[in-house]
Amino acid sequence: MNTDDLPAGIMPLGPPLTPAGYDELTGLPNRALFHDCLRQALLLAEQHNDKVALLCLGVDNFKFVNESLGHAAGDQLLTEVARRLRGCVHQQVPLARLGDDEFLVVLGGLRASAEVAPVCENIFAALAPGMTLDGQYLHASTSIGIALYPQDGTDSATLMRYADQARSRAREHGGAKYQFFAAEMNQRTLERIAMEAALRMCIARDELLLLYQPLVDLQSGEIASLEALVRWEHPSMGLVPAHQFIPLAEEAGLTGAIGAWVLKRACRDLRNWHASGQNRLKVALNISPRQLAEPRFAHSVAAMLAEAGLAPSALTLEITEAALMQPGSAAEVAELKAIGLSLTLDDFGTGSSSLSNLKRFPFDAVKIDSAFIREVVSDAGDAALSKTIISMAHHLGMQVVAEGVETEAQCDFLRRNMCDLIQGFFFAPALSPAGIDALLAEGRTLPSHLLRIQRPQRKLLLVDDEQNIVSALKRLLRPDNYQVHTANSGQQGLDLLAQHQVDVIVSDQRMPGMLGADFLRKARELYPDTIRIMLSGYTELQSVTDAVNEGAIYKFLTKPWEDELLRGHIAEAFRLKEIADDNERLNMEVRTANHELAAANRRMEQLLLEKQRQISRDEISLQVAREVLQHLPLPVIGLDDQGMIAFINGAAELLFQHSGHLLGDEASRVLPELFAPAAASGATLPHQASVQGQRYTVVVHPMGERSASRGSLITLTRAVAA
Ligand code: C2E
Ligand code: MG
Ligand code: MG
Repeated sequence: MNTDDLPAGIMPLGPPLTPAGYDELTGLPNRALFHDCLRQALLLAEQHNDKVALLCLGVDNFKFVNESLGHAAGDQLLTEVARRLRGCVHQQVPLARLGDDEFLVVLGGLRASAEVAPVCENIFAALAPGMTLDGQYLHASTSIGIALYPQDGTDSATLMRYADQARSRAREHGGAKYQFFAAEMNQRTLERIAMEAALRMCIARDELLLLYQPLVDLQSGEIASLEALVRWEHPSMGLVPAHQFIPLAEEAGLTGAIGAWVLKRACRDLRNWHASGQNRLKVALNISPRQLAEPRFAHSVAAMLAEAGLAPSALTLEITEAALMQPGSAAEVAELKAIGLSLTLDDFGTGSSSLSNLKRFPFDAVKIDSAFIREVVSDAGDAALSKTIISMAHHLGMQVVAEGVETEAQCDFLRRNMCDLIQGFFFAPALSPAGIDALLAEGRTLPSHLLRIQRPQRKLLLVDDEQNIVSALKRLLRPDNYQVHTANSGQQGLDLLAQHQVDVIVSDQRMPGMLGADFLRKARELYPDTIRIMLSGYTELQSVTDAVNEGAIYKFLTKPWEDELLRGHIAEAFRLKEIADDNERLNMEVRTANHELAAANRRMEQLLLEKQRQISRDEISLQVAREVLQHLPLPVIGLDDQGMIAFINGAAELLFQHSGHLLGDEASRVLPELFAPAAASGATLPHQASVQGQRYTVVVHPMGERSASRGSLITLTRAVAA
């Protein structure tokens, strides 16, 4: 390239270079010399009131070449890149190698920043042709970061820093790009530094809090576990979600301290839930790779659990595949398992998703990442992947959790495909402990039509002559989702029972026309499977105790009632009814299965009998055939399919009496005369043989043409003399 090739507006500049300031490998100026050039370019630009661009170049695949092909190839790559760069910018344009794969170019005398782009394109074009390094043909590519004087900075140190940041950005975006430094990029860096400093203080300032998101069991519809998700109550930014600060905390080495705080807080909250009666509830914690790598991590978890008086099985640790990549992770995970903790492989499908991780590590469950759940009902690929993960995990004896479930359609898909648990906004977002308390008190469950095994809707009949009582009961029971029928008298109740199937009946006692006890007695006679509850303020003892003793009433409850207690009794009655229904269904299934088994046995017996008859028929015909053959005047010898003598009739025995006992011997060995030389090749044509000085015609008859027998029959007839 000569001066004419430079884009318009670019002036060649720079002092003559001295050999002492040169990089040994590439022969380009080094850092010290380059600083002088840059300072001089900036001085000139200030005098002439024009712009300067500082280009910071990095060779994208240098690290790869160095590591895979060796340092000699890495050096060759840098030398070749330097040669091509030198060739595509003017001799007097300062170009330097800073170290490693980093090169710098100064473009002075610019009128507009747009003049830089063609130079970058020239550089890309110069590097585009492939090169051969250590016998390997490859292409080099470069990422270029650009800082401009005076808009981005006026001193060389600032410009160098900004150009370097812009180059990192270009590389983050996939490399082979140029990227101007943007003020917001600098702003982001500063924010990040400030955030990291603030993050270091967050525990001391008591700015962390834990939210909990329910994991719901698709079989029972109930909350099975809560995932603890940490939040940072930032003084000016408000509530910061974990995904915005956990990666930064991980880089800054702060996840250990945060993790210890989370563990302590979660144990405290879980102990409170257990104390309030929710003793089956579990909590899941996210464990960062650095936490897992901490020495004595398992020990500290065990100590914390012991201090809180919690069983290890109440705690689940969620571990990502990235954490499993670290050396020593297998031993650490095994130790956590040995303590008795449940382990979940988190975000499955996003990392290396290695099947061997599923097999190698003792996980109890795997969490399908929300990225696959998002489109699971519209994208065939995501649907297939989710189904495969579920089936694979089940085969390995693990449970499957789907995270990020936001819609009923996604939940329904997962239910149908045997997923075990779901987590996501569809059921509940992450909530404060108080929010979880409210959810538990409300008894929120998944609606029955979204359960893996569907229960028919629970049907209730309320009978009371006071309409306001019926209305109050209906209101009270609304959250329980029952299908409610109402009647104001015993007779109306019976009419309704005749039209609708009902599981549980709640009836008042004192009603005009028919007493509640009589109504429930009739209901029992006609519909014995119903569960019947009396709810009465009036205890006319005799008729009620009679009805209870006859079994017409399952429970007697008094008015005024206590809301939660009454709801509990009715729910219990439905559970009882469902258990009875399940028993009935199982009983029917067992009986049906027994019938089918009996029918199958019967068919088997008949088949066996028929077979036995067939066998004895075959035996008889065999005996008849043997008898006939035995008495034939013609010598007959039977061979099995191995060529052994299996049968020999009287005439043959007589003819071969000189050969001794023949049965069970190999015919070709003991009676070679029966086989013509051609027989060896499978021919069965008659041939002549001499036995006891007589000529015989020997015929081999292969068996099995008209029966299932195998082997052959050999007959001998006296040959007629010619
Ligand atoms: P994760 O373990 O996969 O957590 C699930 C993330 O998905 C949470 O984000 C949660 O708020 C969000 N999420 C839940 N339901 C839905 C939904 O229906 N739709 C969508 N789009 N998102 C949903 P969050 O709280 O920001 O946490 C992000 C990640 O930060 C977590 O991913 C976890 O890896 C990490 N993390 C959270 N808490 C902790 C912690 O205490 N310690 C460590 N080391 N990491 C944590
Ligand atoms: Mg998680
Ligand atoms: Mg996850």
